[in-house]
Amino acid sequence: MNHLGGDKVIFTFKPNMEPVISINSGESILVETNDCFYQQIQREDQVLMEIDFDRINPATGPIQVNGAEKGDILKVRIDKIDVADKGTAAVVPGHGVLADLAKVPIVKIFNIEDGYIDFNGMKLPINPMIGVIGVAPSDQEGDCPTQTPWKHGGNMDTTDIREGSTLYFPVNQKGALLALGDCHAMMGDGEVCFTGLEIPAKVRLYVEVIKNKHINWPIVENNLGTMIVASGDDIDKAIYSGTEEAVRILSKVLDLSFEEAYLLGSIAMDLKISQVVDPKKTIRAFIPKWLVDTEKIIEKLY
Ligand code: CA
Ligand code: ZN
Repeated sequence: MNHLGGDKVIFTFKPNMEPVISINSGESILVETNDCFYQQIQREDQVLMEIDFDRINPATGPIQVNGAEKGDILKVRIDKIDVADKGTAAVVPGHGVLADLAKVPIVKIFNIEDGYIDFNGMKLPINPMIGVIGVAPSDQEGDCPTQTPWKHGGNMDTTDIREGSTLYFPVNQKGALLALGDCHAMMGDGEVCFTGLEIPAKVRLYVEVIKNKHINWPIVENNLGTMIVASGDDIDKAIYSGTEEAVRILSKVLDLSFEEAYLLGSIAMDLKISQVVDPKKTIRAFIPKWLVDTEKIIEKLY
């Protein structure tokens, strides 16, 4: 199988990136990812502000997928996420939802044993996910730092980006140029204090190019539904963009007027918070499979 080590990283998704490996549509690849601190935090007594913040959120890649052209979709199935045996979470004063209330920095290191961590005597089950995954942005969007989620993906911090899920990205550049990192052993929707349980991982992906299909935002599919993952400068803008794309998709795929699709979205679609702590905020609009299958959605897109 194709294999990419964690020493090949980017800190910005750029329209023109040099790929470090190329693979074919229909192949799998094992990708090693670093934690979001680039493993700079190893001890609980470490001073958080002393780490190099220019080396935050390394994403392993870029991976060129042969045959992917602008105007296609890159389908990425997450077959396995194996996390390391130790992860880090932190409170950084001045960050997160309660930035004004959190005064004392904390670093916590958790060992993972048989799929659980010990939090002050409580056994909590891990639930691994990928924080940063994306492709090269379009020329108009320009450079997107790996801290920021946007139309190319990036720091979406979406709990449903996990083992068994399938992602669909708009291909903006030849070869798509996929990169990923910032895995979390655990994270709650919102990621309220600014970090998940940050951890290095080995991720096995299967990729496929879907020719001549257009989406404006990444899509995540799980066995229950199809999620449009949209981001914005604030949560209201993210909600607007995600709802707009979802309603347009419902209208097109189910052959409804805009207003009928809008109404259907109101009675059958769920908006869920992904994260509220990154430079842009992220939501997902969840269209259940009992309403329409992901396969039909992708097939009907143009
Ligand atoms: Ca993140
Ligand atoms: Zn993270």
